[in-house]
Amino acid sequence: MDQTNCVFCKIAAGQIPCYKIFENNAVLSFLDINPISDGHTIIIPKAHYESAELCPPEILAEAAKSFGAIAKAVTAAVGAPAFNLLCNNGSPAGQVVKHIHFHIIPRRENDNVFARWPKYTYPDGKAPELLKKILAHF
Ligand code: 5GP
Ligand code: ZN
Repeated sequence: MDQTNCVFCKIAAGQIPCYKIFENNAVLSFLDINPISDGHTIIIPKAHYESAELCPPEILAEAAKSFGAIAKAVTAAVGAPAFNLLCNNGSPAGQVVKHIHFHIIPRRENDNVFARWPKYTYPDGKAPELLKKILAHF
């Protein structure tokens, strides 16, 4: 997938809408459109690099700097005591969107979340409601 057809580049450029949680010069974070748990969040470097080994360390570091604050707000908003922070890197590892990204997936005891991958869709109104709660915790 090149940059012109990349869905995350289009989101970063404002060409595809998203429920935006955080943005700075280097990084953008938004709700996953097909969550595996409420508040499932994506964090991307705005620059297009396919995978971790192709991404300059300084850019990975910019993304990493944002993990704590975003995860704190997301987990507080949904009342989750834990989260997975993960990167599906390469197709055999489950990477579908070939623009490096990190998932924050809120977790609870015995929630069986990974049995639900792939996913569900938020009912109408749920995503903006969640976004409001997350931003209130920032
Ligand atoms: P991957 O399997 O590549 O690690 O995950 C890509 C994630 O991006 C998936 O969880 C998928 O639901 C999410 N995603 C794909 N397209 C869009 C989109 O257009 N908007 C949003 N918000 N998330 C997307
Ligand atoms: Zn891209």
